[in-house]
Formats: sequence, C-alpha cells, structure tokens
Amino acid sequence: MELFAEFLIIGSGIAGLRAAAELAGAGDILILTKAEPREGSTGYAQGGIAAAVGPDDSPELHAADTLAAGDGLCDERAVGVLVEEGPRYVRELMDWGAAFDRDPGGRPSLAIEGAHSVRRVLHAHDATGREIARTLWARASSLAGLTAYDHALAVELIVEDGRAIGACFLDEDGGASSAYAPAVLLATGGAGRVYRETTNPPVATGDGVAMAYRAGAAVVDMEFVQFHPTALQVAGQPRFLLSEALRGEGARLVNADGDAFMTRSEPGGDLAPRDRVSRAIVRESERTGHPVSLSLELLDPDFVHERFPLISDACRRAGLDLARDRVPVGPAAHYLMGGVATDVDGRTTLPGLFAAGEVACTGVHGANRLASNSLLEGLVFGARAGRAMRTSTPGGGSRPPVAAPRPARGGAPALLRAREIQDVMWREVGLFRDRAGLERALAAIEPAWRAVDAWIRDGGPLDADGWRTASLLTVGRLIARAALRREESRGAHYRSDYARRDDIHWRRRSRETMKLVNW
Ligand SMILES: Cc1cc2nc3c(=O)[nH]c(=O)nc-3n(C[C@H](O)[C@H](O)[C@H](O)COP(=O)(O)OP(=O)(O)OC[C@H]3O[C@@H](n4cnc5c(N)ncnc54)[C@H](O)[C@@H]3O)c2cc1C
Repeated sequence: MELFAEFLIIGSGIAGLRAAAELAGAGDILILTKAEPREGSTGYAQGGIAAAVGPDDSPELHAADTLAAGDGLCDERAVGVLVEEGPRYVRELMDWGAAFDRDPGGRPSLAIEGAHSVRRVLHAHDATGREIARTLWARASSLAGLTAYDHALAVELIVEDGRAIGACFLDEDGGASSAYAPAVLLATGGAGRVYRETTNPPVATGDGVAMAYRAGAAVVDMEFVQFHPTALQVAGQPRFLLSEALRGEGARLVNADGDAFMTRSEPGGDLAPRDRVSRAIVRESERTGHPVSLSLELLDPDFVHERFPLISDACRRAGLDLARDRVPVGPAAHYLMGGVATDVDGRTTLPGLFAAGEVACTGVHGANRLASNSLLEGLVFGARAGRAMRTSTPGGGSRPPVAAPRPARGGAPALLRAREIQDVMWREVGLFRDRAGLERALAAIEPAWRAVDAWIRDGGPLDADGWRTASLLTVGRLIARAALRREESRGAHYRSDYARRDDIHWRRRSRETMKLVNW
C-alpha cells in the first residue's frame, strides 16, 4: 500500500495530536500509530501538567525551577518558550473541554511536585493524561482531511535528495507499506522499554530516535534518562507508577522500621529531585536489606481514595490499601531527556523531518526534567512543530514514491533478545554508572547493533519483533555511549567513578550523528 498526504505524523500522543490540531485546514494529514490509537505514555500520565497560572506564580519562577532541575544544561531559549507559552496552550486545552480539577472558587486546583517552588500542576484526579488524550482526540476527530491508521508500525524514514519524504511501515499483518508527505513529524514518545524496570507502556521502545539516527539526523543528550523513584514493587505486578503528587500531598518514604529516612538523606527530603530520591532508596534498601515503602498513614483515607482513584485501584489489584498499607516501591526508568535534536519549532537537522514530544530534544529539560513539564512540552512544541510544518512544504503536494525496494538477502542476524538488552541496560546503564559497567554494556550491545544495522542497510527484511529489537539496540547503544563519554555526574546521569559535576569540561551537550555510508 502507498499513501500520500501533505503531512505525515508518526505517533498519536499529546505531541502528535496537538500538531495535527495546528495543521487543520492546511492539507491532508495522515497519522500512523503503532498500537491502539490511545496507547502511549500520554494516556498513563497521572500527576498533571505544569503551567504558571497560579496567583503566586510567574513564567520567570517556572523557568527558574526548570533551569535548576536541568542542572546547568537546559537550552534557555527553549525553556523561555515553554514557560511563556505554556499557560496559553493549557487554557486553550480547557477551552477545548479538558476538565481539570477545580478549587472551591472554580479556579484550577494546583498541586505541588518535587523541585517546584509553588503549586503549579493542573490535574484531573490522578488520570490527567487520559483527560488530555480524550480532549485532543475529540478535537482531532473533528478535523477534515485527517486519517489515522492504527497498528501501523513505522520502521524507516524515506529520504530522497537529503530530505525526509515519508516512512515505511508494517501493518497489523506484517505487510510492508509506505506513506509519503513533504513534511514528516516524529511524535513517537519515549524509550523506557530499553530498561528492564520501567513505568513506560510497551510502545515506548525509542523507535523514533532509532529511525532518525539511521536516517542521519542528530541526536543529543542521550545519557540523560530519568528514573522515577516510586514504581510499585510487588512480585508479578507491573511497575505501576505511584505519582510524585502523592508525596506532594504528604506521603513519605519509609524503611522497614517505619523510619522516614529521606529527611536525613537529602536536604529536599521526600520531594528532592527524582534522581536523588531514587539513589537514596537504593542505598537505604542496601543498608537495611529490606525494600522501601511509601506510607500515606498521616493522610485522611477518604481524601486519598478520592484524589488518587487510579493509583488506589492499582494498589488494590496488588492486594494493598493505598491509604493504610505501606506500599513497596523502587526506581524504574521513566523519561528520556535526550532525543532527536530540534530547534524550538521542531525542525531536526534533516530537512523535511520534524520531531516533538518525548522523542525530541529541544534542550528544555537539560540534564533532568522538572516533574510535569513533559506534557507541557508535548503541547507547546507539538503546536509549534505543526505551525512550522505548514510553511515548510516545498511546492506543496505529495511526491512520487522513490525507487524499488532494496534487495533482501537470506539469514537474519542473530540478535540479542529484548530481555537481554533490558537486563544489561538496567544493570550497567541505570542509576549508578561507571566506566567498567558501561564498557561491559557496550561489549554486549555493539556487535548485535552492528549486525542489525548492516542487515537493515542491505535491505534485509525484519518482522515487528526484529524492528523492536533493532530500536532497543540502537537507543541502548546511544545511551551507553553518551554515558561513557560524560565523565562527570550531572542531573540524572550519575557516574560513581566521577561523582561530581564538572562545569569546566562538561557544561556542554553531547551530540551524535551517524556517519552515513552508501545510503
Ligand atoms: C506512567 C507515566 C506517568 C507520567 N506522568 C506524567 C505527568 O503526570 N506529567 C507529565 O508531564 N508527564 C508525565 N509522564 C511523561 C509523559 O506522559 C510523556 O512524556 C508524554 O506523554 C509523551 O508524549 P508524546 O506525545 O511524546 O508520546 P506518547 O504519548 O508516548 O505517544 C507516542 C505515540 O507514538 C506511537 N509510536 C511509537 N513508536 C511508533 C512507531 N514506530 N510507529 C508508529 N507509531 C509509533 C505510540 O503508539 C504512541 O501513539 C508520565 C509518563 C508515564 C509513563
């Protein structure tokens, strides 16, 4: 099958859908999404969306908190755009019907999360992402000229004369198809599934980063992966996220003796930055030989169940009462700060290719993301990318397809199994890193990556599982290489062998572009 449109959007989370809304009336829009239409991190986001809308808040204060969390590596221009334009886009979302919780005066009720200096997180109970996705899908469905294909797995970008002009994808039955458009947006979300322990849904395998890298676009800041401190740690249960908003409302981390150890481990206590809380949890578990738990026993049980219905349900399924029981928690990979390098209008280094949301790296998060800034990023930069795509099309209209498919050859490469990649990434490229461990990880990943990359470039066929493994290998390798290069600790990147931040040598962002040969 060959499809043609003016605009191709890959991914249907907050970034892809907000871009689609911006493209209304400018031409035919095609969305490819690899699973059910609403599957992706956006629908699982709990805590909320940050925006300076409170009476004691301002874009300047929001910027200061974002820059502090980013630990010296944020792109200040991108941060300025995020915090200045954020309130407008959040209000627009409310005008489109997003029902955020309200205070008794009818104003949006604002929560506080780690490293925010004031209450600024709008939320819809603990299912904020679901409410935003509902609103954006309603908006997108009303657009004339929009077609969405689900269970369409984009696998490769089509590049002609140095310009992205489309993508190859596999349909539900594994059939190969192509979609062509003069402007292509990657909105494929994050890559948490590169790790064994993650809060991310199964679709988060870093496909967008892998496709862009293979096509020659620059990727940046890949060493910066945020680990969330409080994922549910019950054997046989998924690593369900226990939002930071719980600690914002007064939940405490306690050890097996009930000691609230964060107050003596970290100046910021339970609401210290996520990477510091994560490492403190691991150290406390190692010190005591027992898991750490989240305790809400100081809070009113009715309030807890009313404010956090989704989390209460997940705990109930694990046989626990969120309000009364101590809930065992531990860190899990949560968010990729790095990604495909873009400017503030979503332009990548490859003409015709745009990126927005978690797959992109505007530099807004620097070395660590401020809680609840990522939904805002998807909204603001999704809209901006959509606007830039409207004006980017060379001559408008769709292009004819490129030449015949490349020849296939027999014998698929022996790939590492996904589980092996996830294990090695968790063990060696996780919360605590050092040279020896990172070299071990690369020794395992590099040969498998080289084999699959050569296979793909020679036109070798892969099924959906093979492409998934190729993404995990590509993204895992990029994270491990960047982590090995950066000989300091900063933000979410912690090197036990270089435990300090080193501004003299490392106050700079890391960038990698594939050298394309015979492409
Ligand atoms: C459990 C959880 C809770 C969170 N809570 C918050 C929060 O409270 N506040 C906050 O700001 N952030 C939160 N985050 C982070 C935030 O949800 C994400 O960063 C954000 O939603 C990403 O949006 P996106 O549009 O970039 O990607 P996503 O919403 O992940 O959407 C990606 C889309 O791309 C599709 N896709 C991926 N690969 C392909 C491919 N190869 N071909 C076709 N389609 C593809 C997916 O199917 C999906 O439709 C949370 C994340 C998780 C996992």
